[in-house]
Order: sequence, then C-alpha cells, then structure tokens
Amino acid sequence: MKKTLLLFLMIACFILTGFRDSSDPKIRVAILLDASSVKISATGRFKIFAPGKLEAVATGDESSIYMIQSGLFGLKMDGPEEYGNILEVKPLGDSFIRVNNRTYRGEIEVRKRNDTLLVINEVDLEEYLYGVMKHEISPAWPLEAVKAQAVAARSFALNKKLGNVGKPYDLCATITSQVYGGLSGEDPRSNEAIDETRGEILTYEERPIAAYYHATCGGETEDVENVWGGRLPYLKSVRCRYCKDSPHYEWEEKLSLLEISNALGHKGISEVESIEIYERSDTGRIVKLVVEDEFGKHIISGNQFRMALGPNLIRSTLFKIKEKRGRVEFKGKGWGHGVGMCQWGTKGMAERDFSYKEILKHYYSNAEIRKMDNR
Ligand SMILES: [Zn+2]
Repeated sequence: MKKTLLLFLMIACFILTGFRDSSDPKIRVAILLDASSVKISATGRFKIFAPGKLEAVATGDESSIYMIQSGLFGLKMDGPEEYGNILEVKPLGDSFIRVNNRTYRGEIEVRKRNDTLLVINEVDLEEYLYGVMKHEISPAWPLEAVKAQAVAARSFALNKKLGNVGKPYDLCATITSQVYGGLSGEDPRSNEAIDETRGEILTYEERPIAAYYHATCGGETEDVENVWGGRLPYLKSVRCRYCKDSPHYEWEEKLSLLEISNALGHKGISEVESIEIYERSDTGRIVKLVVEDEFGKHIISGNQFRMALGPNLIRSTLFKIKEKRGRVEFKGKGWGHGVGMCQWGTKGMAERDFSYKEILKHYYSNAEIRKMDNR
C-alpha cells in the first residue's frame, strides 16, 4: 500500500474514531446569554452541583424553585471560595429541568460571566435536534423534506461543535445558529424524521459540513463566497426549480431614502442620495452596492445592506431597485442568504417523489451522506 494512501486512511480512521468515542455526541447550546437572573425548576427530582464538590449543593423536586442571580447569587455563586462561578443542574430519573419555565432535556449549566449569567443546555445531539426542527421547518411538510432538514441540522451542529472546541458552548439557541426551543419546542413528526435518519450526516473530506440552509432561493442557490467569502466545494450554486410555490418566491418592498439612511447610519453613511447596484453574482444576487451621500460614494456588500435594513424587510439580495422621488422600490426573489439547501425547494422535491438523500445531494453537491459509527 502506498504511503500516502496509508496516511490518508489513518487520518480518516482517526476522525471517524473521534466520532465513535463520542458515539452519543453532546451539544452545548447557549440558551440564555447575559441574563441577570434565572429561575430553575424541574418536572421531578434534580440536584445542583458545583465543580470540585462531590456532594450536591442543593436538591429539589417538582415543587422546588431556585432563583440564580448574577449579583446576589441565590446559591452563593459569587466567588471561588464558595462554589466557583459554575453550577450544574442535573435531572434525576425521568425528570426534566426547567429554565424560566421552558423545559429542557439533558443538563443545565449556569456560568457567571462578567456579572451576568450564561446558561448552557448540554444535551445529546439527537435530542438537541428534537428541539430544533419545528422551529426550522414545518413538521407537516412531506417526510422526506423533514428528513433532509434533520440531516442538514445534524451536520450543521456537529460542524459548529468541531469549530468551537475549547469554548464554553457550541451553538446559540437563536437564528444565528439554529433556533432551539428545548423539550417545549418538539413535534412528534419531526422527531420521527430525526429518528429515521439517526446518526446520518453530510461530510466533506471526512468532516461534517457547514450545512447552511435558507427558506427560499428564488430559482438558484448562491456560492458561499459571494455571501460570506471563502470557498467551500459543497456550498456551490445550483439551479432550483422546486420552490416556486413558496410564498416568498417573489417579494416587494418600498422604502424612503430617509429610512435607508437611518438603517445605514451606523455604517458611517449619512443622508443617502442614491443607490446603485455595483456588482452582481452569476445568480443575479447583489454582491456590492454603491450608496452615495453628501460626502461621496460608499461601497457596501449586498449582505451587509440586507442585514442593516433588516433581513425580514429586504428578504434576499436577489433584487432590482427603482428610485423615484425619494422612494426606493425593491422587487426581489427568495428569502434568506441563498446558501446551501433551499427549504421550500426540499418541499417541492419531496412532493415530486425525490428521497431525502437525493434532495441533500442536489443542494450540497460534492458532499457525502454517511452514518456515524455505533448508530
Ligand atoms: Zn429554491
């Protein structure tokens, strides 16, 4: 066997063994950032531990409530001489922990950080997905579409986990990562899609991919380099004929130059006098715009422009503009950044009898679908 091939196989084994060792990978989700206080309760018995102390520092049952505050901490989390700055809440038996009345699987960690509290839910990957899916796709959609979403979300989470090694958490619970609602946010049908694809992920060169997805592409997905920069062979533009039924396939918005000026103010732009498209990608999305104010012309990326004005207002960067008497008319297609899988496209493909694997291979070209070991 050639040396290079042997080396390659050794690396591949190492990476896959990494998965095998953590056959039930845990995901650490930041469910509250910068909280001043947090209410801990549970559906049954639970214990609270402080690192370095063998005995629980508190116990509780379904009638117990503990308030943890960043300042005067209910469980004396105010210094290393007490319990340090970390408390771990562990359920006993079949109980689930509640944080501010929202119920979670797995364990809860409360960390004091810069006089505020960071609350992390440590949960099995598959159980994490249970709490994500309903927020990211309608469970009522065809099962193959929901299964495609499950594999994408699983890959996305593992990719983030690998990218955040050494940090206190892997993902946030909001739209910046994947929206996660804990046990309170589950649906039996999306749980079924997760169970049926258990352990399956998209990989590229043996690693889980950054499986980005968006609501509607509007006809063609986008190369990642045109949105956030950087090239990834599995996030290339592909044609999509399947999202035409999406309510977001086309959109319109009218904004005054004053509204646009206000939104761009923090980018050092004053009163906007005109807007021009400077560069479009091959798919027609705006890569750069020129915004002119009294001081001159400013180049701003299409993505920055969309985020500054509001991603729910300027639904995509695939738009045309018309300026008339101080008002700008936007006519666009699609909703979202356009990178990776088009969710309404998955629905359209599933309705045309494509399997979830065919759907994933369409949107993430060059990626492989693999099952993690010990599943
Ligand atoms: Zn599409």
